[in-house]
Amino acid sequence: MHLKSNSLNEVTDGFLPGLLIVDDEANILKALKRSFLRTKYNVFTAESAAKGLEILNNEDIQVVLSDFRMPKMSGGQFVKQLKESHPDVVSMIISGYADFDSAIEVLNSGAAFKFLRKPWCNKGLLEDVDAAFDEYFARKTVISNEPEQQGMELSKKAIFEHGLNTLLEANAKVAVASIRIFNLAVIIQQLDEYSSSKLHAIIEQTIKAEMPSSSEVYQVELDQIFVLIPDLQSECSFQNVLSKLNEMLNSQLTGDFSKYKLNSSIAYAISPFDGVNGQELMQNLHSIFAQEVFYKQHIQKLDSTKIETRKRQLTIQSSIAGAINENQFELYFQPKVNVDSGATKQGEVLMRWEHQELGWVSPSEFINLSELDGQIEQIGTWLIDKSVKKLAELSRIHNCLESLSINISARQLSNHKVVDQFAFLIDKYKLDPALIEIEITESSVMEDLDQTNAVLWQLKLLGLRIAIDDFGTGYSSFAYLSKLPVDVLKLDKVLVDDLVKSDDVKSMLRSLIALCHQMQIKVVAEGVEDEQQLAILQEMHCDYIQGYVYSKAVRLQEFEKILINQPFKNKVIS
Ligand code: C2E
Ligand code: CA
Ligand code: CA
Repeated sequence: MHLKSNSLNEVTDGFLPGLLIVDDEANILKALKRSFLRTKYNVFTAESAAKGLEILNNEDIQVVLSDFRMPKMSGGQFVKQLKESHPDVVSMIISGYADFDSAIEVLNSGAAFKFLRKPWCNKGLLEDVDAAFDEYFARKTVISNEPEQQGMELSKKAIFEHGLNTLLEANAKVAVASIRIFNLAVIIQQLDEYSSSKLHAIIEQTIKAEMPSSSEVYQVELDQIFVLIPDLQSECSFQNVLSKLNEMLNSQLTGDFSKYKLNSSIAYAISPFDGVNGQELMQNLHSIFAQEVFYKQHIQKLDSTKIETRKRQLTIQSSIAGAINENQFELYFQPKVNVDSGATKQGEVLMRWEHQELGWVSPSEFINLSELDGQIEQIGTWLIDKSVKKLAELSRIHNCLESLSINISARQLSNHKVVDQFAFLIDKYKLDPALIEIEITESSVMEDLDQTNAVLWQLKLLGLRIAIDDFGTGYSSFAYLSKLPVDVLKLDKVLVDDLVKSDDVKSMLRSLIALCHQMQIKVVAEGVEDEQQLAILQEMHCDYIQGYVYSKAVRLQEFEKILINQPFKNKVIS
């Protein structure tokens, strides 16, 4: 049995609480459902957000557990819609680490109660789902018992925000402490009105007694208290105050409440280091609560490196347009080496950028940022133009060249412009289209499967080769990929790194490579750094190796030398 004894059973007598699980991958859906076999929950499953909404309209559901990345409607959009259409339902997102940043936005919007991580452990999952049901019943109790409280909470929040902004405008060094008491709603639910106000008063007194005398305490939600401390003198002594307060709040209550123990955590931020205005300060503060680590550490300070990171990001974003115009981006080439012969007939184009102030900026960093603000469209257009031009020149000089691959981002696949651009360039340079390979990541394919599939087929019909990049970084679903016109699968470095130490990865890769070959798909292993990995991959009949064991990405002249002087010596295992 996994329902909590005192709180839930009282409320749930006579019916089974309804849990809806939404995930587009059938095997994950099944595995998640299995986790709840021995619980009292009535579990429903749906393979899409649309199906989930249908079930919500017809069944009695209190808690929803949704995958984040799904075709058509994402988990983020789904829970936001639920907040409108089924405001009582408590929604949680379950997804890979890669989605954490996007999920924070959903958590901050209040649409999702918690973010759970895949892969999950059953015990933790059950506890989180129990907590979500507790939250549901606690919200219900609060709403039905105290109809006027909602309006009061709103105005308290507004008063708090006004207080914060006024202090910040006066340029004061302000500290904000955010105290969350996770189980307060559940405890209050078991108390009568008198006892519940008494408990609130005890908590407020405890906080006031510990905090500096100039502090203002605001209870903005049932389980959330903010404290504003103007003119903070010493961060170090403030931390001591918070530690002591947190210890007091988390110890067993006394007197009438002796059977209860609160469970609280505190986060704090200090202006101007942790946020230049009220909104930024509070946003950063909220994001701490969304992080798992927070629950373990109890007191957390906002990391001021976050602010530095944001400044760096803004600098990068504002210099991209200039970098294109002034030709600051450079093309580098990394060979893809035939496993058996050591010959290089293929390569990948990788961008390099030396920023005037920041020095070398990694393409992972600027490409990701440019995807967020849309500048990837300009970078992508520039890159395709330059790469195809270079490819045309190289292929005239080096007959051995079979293909060069160009990375294409998700956003570039969201319309058909990229197809027109390739068609135009192939015609302009009278190029064999099979010389061009495009690499798209597995996750960008999943963002909008129907749209991606349509564009990929058009590129395929044009004669281009198509590679799936970064396979193994999270959503590895061969079922999806087999529906796409795929010529090449690139195994990510994370899989290659695990190859030597994990027999499971070894046997999985062996079957995957065999399966690819049955489907006429070539396999490239990326990030191969040593000869031990190389030997295993060769024995598994992987087709190509791309990695430092042979060469990093190099300038054009260097790449041409590799084409001329091949095959690579010494590394080929016979
Ligand atoms: P990616 O497409 O997966 O590229 C492979 C990355 O792994 C490259 O990093 C490459 O230098 C690195 N790599 C290759 N072999 C090894 C190895 O043996 N060990 C290690 N540690 N790393 C290895 P790079 O060039 O920094 O690019 C990072 C990512 O940035 C790329 O990942 C790609 O997603 C993106 N990117 C780079 N150039 C472009 C571009 O022109 N267009 C787009 N859309 N994305 C690009
Ligand atoms: Ca790539
Ligand atoms: Ca990759």
